[in-house]
Amino acid sequence: MFGVPGVRVLAAERDAAGLELTVETDQTLEGCRRCGVLALPHDRREHRLHDAPFGHRRVRVRWRKRVWRCLEPACPVVTFTEAHELAPPRALLTRRAVTWAADALQDDDTTVAALARRLDVDWHTLWDALKIEARRRADDPQRLAGVESLGVDEHVWRPGKFGQGREVTCMVDLSRDANGHVRARLLDLVLGRSGPAYARWLDARQPAFRAQIKHAALDPFRGYANALRDSLPDAVQVLEAFHVVKLGTQVLDEVRRRVQQEQLHRRGHRDDPLYKIRGLLRHGLEHLSERQHARLAAGLAGWRRPTRRSRAGLVLLPAVAGDLRRHRQRPRPTVAGREGHRQLPDLPDP
Ligand SMILES: [Zn+2]
Repeated sequence: MFGVPGVRVLAAERDAAGLELTVETDQTLEGCRRCGVLALPHDRREHRLHDAPFGHRRVRVRWRKRVWRCLEPACPVVTFTEAHELAPPRALLTRRAVTWAADALQDDDTTVAALARRLDVDWHTLWDALKIEARRRADDPQRLAGVESLGVDEHVWRPGKFGQGREVTCMVDLSRDANGHVRARLLDLVLGRSGPAYARWLDARQPAFRAQIKHAALDPFRGYANALRDSLPDAVQVLEAFHVVKLGTQVLDEVRRRVQQEQLHRRGHRDDPLYKIRGLLRHGLEHLSERQHARLAAGLAGWRRPTRRSRAGLVLLPAVAGDLRRHRQRPRPTVAGREGHRQLPDLPDP
């Protein structure tokens, strides 16, 4: 009934707030921890525990722990209290309450404070127990099994002007599960936003883990690429689609500003043709309505003498940016972008 092997429920009481269970272990024989001589049951001592909730009810456990007495007269141990998996000595939470809270933190959108309220314990009490459980889970080598695609990204932990250790490097499992869905599982966080931080993490893993990585995704930061080159030389490096689109869009904006400067010798403002179409330039041509298409054509036409460089940029980049965005949305690229490119309005020759 209790669900913990070797523990039986003697009594269950229900009140408005929840359940109170009185339990005992079924252990009848015990040897002295010091000398190994058979010990005799001596007494019972009550250990009160907070257990994992049952539905919405809080559960309290009164564990009637046995006190044993050593029979060996020469042994310095006189009596000792029984130990069991149910809870560590002097703990306030049962082991399964800590497991329940750690599972909830791992899988649900919740906080330590919310879980501490559910368990009716102080925040620090739960956090101290969770730290031990988290360390145990982090050290489990099975945690990194089956990671074939590894992602890395940087993150600023606590935005603000002061404080140390704000920048972290995050490692993410981007492998696909049996249904083809990306797992997107956070594997680890290490201090520092640098190539060496990532390389140190990779080098600290088991060789079997590094050998199983087929693809390594990264942002355009050079340091991470260096770490991959040195520590995962066999993995295929993949630039994240988000960054590819971002870089493409950046270049497009730079070309637009350059043409603007070359033509009018000042930065663009509200009434300039190029400035008016700065948003339209970023769209795939096939997504534009006829009206938008006409606006784009009007914005690109009428330049006195665009240089060859500017002209090439203006023709190619809308198609490229649109293409990138499509690749990001669909797993299989289409030729729609190239068809769109052909429909671009003609520009005057330089
Ligand atoms: Zn003894």
